[in-house]
Amino acid sequence: MNDNGCMNPHELELHYPWHDALPDPALGLQVAPGVYWLRMELPFALNHINLWLLRDEVDGIAGWTVVDCCVDRPASRAQWKGVFSHAMQALPILRVIVTHMHPDHIGLAHWLCERFQAPLWISATDFYTARSLALGRHYHGGDGAAQFFAQHGLTDPDALEAVRDRLDFFKRLVPALPLTFRRLMDGQQLMIGGREWRTIAGYGHAPEHMALHCASLNVLISGDMVLPRISTNVSVFDTEPESDPLTLFLDSIDRFAALPEDTLVLPSHGKPFTGLQVRIRQLHEHHDDRLREVMQACHQRPCSAADILPVLFPRELDWHQTTFAIGESLAHLHALWHKGALQPHRDALGVLRFSPSAVSPRP
Ligand SMILES: [Zn+2]
Repeated sequence: MNDNGCMNPHELELHYPWHDALPDPALGLQVAPGVYWLRMELPFALNHINLWLLRDEVDGIAGWTVVDCCVDRPASRAQWKGVFSHAMQALPILRVIVTHMHPDHIGLAHWLCERFQAPLWISATDFYTARSLALGRHYHGGDGAAQFFAQHGLTDPDALEAVRDRLDFFKRLVPALPLTFRRLMDGQQLMIGGREWRTIAGYGHAPEHMALHCASLNVLISGDMVLPRISTNVSVFDTEPESDPLTLFLDSIDRFAALPEDTLVLPSHGKPFTGLQVRIRQLHEHHDDRLREVMQACHQRPCSAADILPVLFPRELDWHQTTFAIGESLAHLHALWHKGALQPHRDALGVLRFSPSAVSPRP
C-alpha cells in the first residue's frame, strides 16, 4: 500500500477498458474469461484494494483461486460473505494466493484459508516476514524505528514518541496468519482453471513480491509493482537500514517490459488498464526526475532524508505520512549513494547527511 504515492500526471497515456465502471461489491466484474475483479474498501488514505477471483478446478473440484485478501476488519469480512454467495456462486475457495505480505493483501488470508481449508500460496520471504511481524512488535515502530527516524533528521518529539508507540500496526490489520504455506518462486508455472499462469518476482516494494502472468489470457496481475495512478511505495526501513530498494524496484519493473504491448494489467490499486510499457517508462521518468531533484538539493548543502521531504512531497504531511515519506526519501538518497553519486556522513548531532561524492559515480 502507499499513503504518499505521487499521482501520475500522464495517466491519459494509459487506456482503461472499463472507463469509470467499478465492480459490484458482491458480484465483482468479469475482466477476462474466468477472471473477476473485486474491489474492497480500506481504512487508509489509499481507500481501496483490488482482489482477483480466478475460476479454478483442483482434483475435479470446481471452485476459485483468490488473489489477495484485504485487511481483517468486519466490513471486509461482510463483503467477502456477499462474494461467497454471489460472485463465487457458493463454490469453495481452493487456494489463496497472496502477492506480498502487506496487511491489505494478507490480512484475511488466515480467515479465508481456514474457512475453506485452502492452502496459502506466497513467496517464502514474504511468509516468514509476515510471521515475524505478527509475532513480534515491530512494524515501522518501536525504539529501533524511532532511533532510525531521528538519525535521518526527524526531530519532532511528538512524532518520535508516536513512532515509539506504533507497535501494533501490523497486528491490528493482520491478527492471525496461516501456519503453513505453499512456496511461490520466480518463474513458477501454476495451472489455474486449465490455464497456465507464471509468477514474476519483484523487489523493492515488499521482500519478494509475486506478480502473475497468463499468456493465453494476455493478463498480468501486477499486484503493487505496477500501478496506473500512483507510484508504488518504495522505502528504506529500519530493519534493513542500508538497502537500495529503488534500484531493486526499477530493475524489477523492467522484467515486465517483454510482455505484449496490449497486456491487460490488473493492479492492486486503481483500475485495470492497458499500456504496460508506457507505464514502465513513466515510472522510470518519474523516479529519474526525483533523483535529479534530490541530487540538486544535495549539491546545495548536505541533506538528511528529512531535508529531502519538501523536495519530493510538496504537500503537508501528518506524522504517520512523514515517516513513510522519510522512507521514500531515503530510497532515493540510497539509490544515488549505492551508485556512487552521493556519500553519507554523520553530522555533529548524529544525523546522517548525504553529499556529492568526491569521486565520480560508478558507471
Ligand atoms: Zn504493498
